[in-house]
Amino acid sequence: MEFFKKNPKREVKHPEIVDWVVEEYKKRTGMVFRDPDRAIRKLSQEGQLIKVSKGVYKYDPRFVKHKELEDFTEAQKEAIFKRDNYRCVICGRGRADGVEIHADHIRPKDLGGKATIENGQTLCAQHNFQKKNYKQTETGKKMFIRLYELAKANKDEKLKKFCEDVLEVYEKNGINGHIVWER
Ligand SMILES: [Zn+2]
Repeated sequence: MEFFKKNPKREVKHPEIVDWVVEEYKKRTGMVFRDPDRAIRKLSQEGQLIKVSKGVYKYDPRFVKHKELEDFTEAQKEAIFKRDNYRCVICGRGRADGVEIHADHIRPKDLGGKATIENGQTLCAQHNFQKKNYKQTETGKKMFIRLYELAKANKDEKLKKFCEDVLEVYEKNGINGHIVWER
């Protein structure tokens, strides 16, 4: 983060960051920095960095702040729960059934979803977990990566090309950058 904060709003290529981190870490601690790639990916997953394209990252202070701003306040959560009768909008279970409920962004924050009551919905812990972990675009990307690997292994050029085109659309639009597609 120190590196990125010194270089705000600049699109930085992966090797430049790695070189800097490895050298600085060695200078300051005398030790070798293990797995800098993983550290960068983690910052990106946490929403601290924007993944511009494969191996290119950017730090934008406004973006980080924006993400925090788009969390629901306690009052908004209560208004969302009340409107939905304290029940999950998918399965109908709620506090009356002893089920934990969450206020969820219908349009996710990552895709520009705002902290408004209209963009909120009540989900039970299970459905909130499912939505977070099995989002449509994520599931789709994972499936296309698997299909791509299979096509590559089978030397099926036509299918491979099709998967590449689809996966490039993900990259181009900066969707689900935390799921890494290795060509
Ligand atoms: Zn539910």
